[in-house]
Amino acid sequence: MSDLTPSTFNLGLIGYPISNSVSPQIHSTALKEVGLDGEYKLYPIEPDDKQGLVDLLTKVRIAEIHGLNVTIPHKQNVMLLLDELTPTAEAIGAVNTIAFKDDKLVGDNTDANGFWNDLQILVHGRHGKARKLKALILGAGGSARAVTYALLKHGWDVAISTRRIEQAEELAQQFPTPNSQLTAISYDAPTLHSLLPTFHLIVNTTPVGMTSHPQGSPWIEGLPFPPKAALYDLIYNPTETQLMKDAVQAGLPVRNGLGMLIGQALLSFEIWTGHKVPADKIDLNL
Ligand code: NAP
Repeated sequence: MSDLTPSTFNLGLIGYPISNSVSPQIHSTALKEVGLDGEYKLYPIEPDDKQGLVDLLTKVRIAEIHGLNVTIPHKQNVMLLLDELTPTAEAIGAVNTIAFKDDKLVGDNTDANGFWNDLQILVHGRHGKARKLKALILGAGGSARAVTYALLKHGWDVAISTRRIEQAEELAQQFPTPNSQLTAISYDAPTLHSLLPTFHLIVNTTPVGMTSHPQGSPWIEGLPFPPKAALYDLIYNPTETQLMKDAVQAGLPVRNGLGMLIGQALLSFEIWTGHKVPADKIDLNL
């Protein structure tokens, strides 16, 4: 939060395309919930429009805008335009929240904590005193970085599986892992089959199954699910993906990405306004 609390909070989202974003719904509800005046606007900025980004960030510097979220395709390229990154944003290599603090534009990332907090609802109490827990992450794009960071930070081992193994290897090389194992594994039935009993969690970070993306499931057809695992699908629209349906049928507990979406938004909201809003106050119409 900046030193001077504004009477009206002007918040918003940078990305492209963003017309279907539900962030305005979440933040308008949060503002009402804590009795603050303000609005949350969408700022569509095309991928190569660096000047558009600079102009918008200037508005944050002069307190015309009090907080911005950042989404695809600007989570990485905005980093060069900021004065400081939090250790979390630095480690993940992406920014999803911008605030102006102590005369500096600061980039933070709330995706990892948003994911981790919501994951607890799925895995809490499931694995008793297991010494080491291991997750299989499908996909190695932007959201996989935040998920990997969160799991490693909390001592999980992580295996990243992608259709292009180089992508998983590149991600795996970027995280120092003194206390955990981080491996890249190829996305084929024999490799995954041999490792299935070792996984306690599957996290889908691919867009497969999302409305308006390739339909179907990212799980290899015919491959059984790990017997003791739970499934977290980052997709929230639809609220139940084909992958979730198949996992439920195989007896796995499942959770979609809605709680992560709301969680990361409310953590950003707290950074900007200083107010905590409980997630159950946000009721989204998807
Ligand atoms: P991204 O950066 O584009 O990464 C997507 C990953 O999935 C890449 O590794 C990509 O590999 C892989 N992939 C894409 N299509 C695939 C296919 N048909 N089969 C196998 N792998 C495939 O995307 P992202 O930003 O990480 O977002 C991924 C998903 O997470 C989206 O559905 C997004 O809505 C969701 N998400 C949810 C939240 C939340 O708060 N719940 C937050 C962030 C993202 P290639 O490079 O080979 O295509």
